[in-house]
Amino acid sequence: MQKVRKGDRVKVISGNDRGKIGKVLVVYPERQRIIVENVHMITKHQRATEKLREPGIIQREGPIHISNVLPICPGCGLPTRVGFTVVEGEKMRQCKHCGEIFR
Ligand SMILES: [Zn+2]
Repeated sequence: MQKVRKGDRVKVISGNDRGKIGKVLVVYPERQRIIVENVHMITKHQRATEKLREPGIIQREGPIHISNVLPICPGCGLPTRVGFTVVEGEKMRQCKHCGEIFR
């Protein structure tokens, strides 16, 4: 169970992108890293492939450490640290501000 899950809205709390809010696109649990929409854009040099005939420079999101973001609580709308609680046998997350329980 991760504190940050795919599809979450998160706020970046450190690094160059501090203050940005975006949606979590990918979670790499074993590396404790995530990719957040429009956060930590890196430049990649794209070689021509069969699909992509034109080589060039593309911008894409790079992974950031999970500790650099806070999930935004669906209850109070604030970036929050989360705790865990069990509801009817299922582990859920709980907002430390307002107590909202969410998946
Ligand atoms: Zn909350």
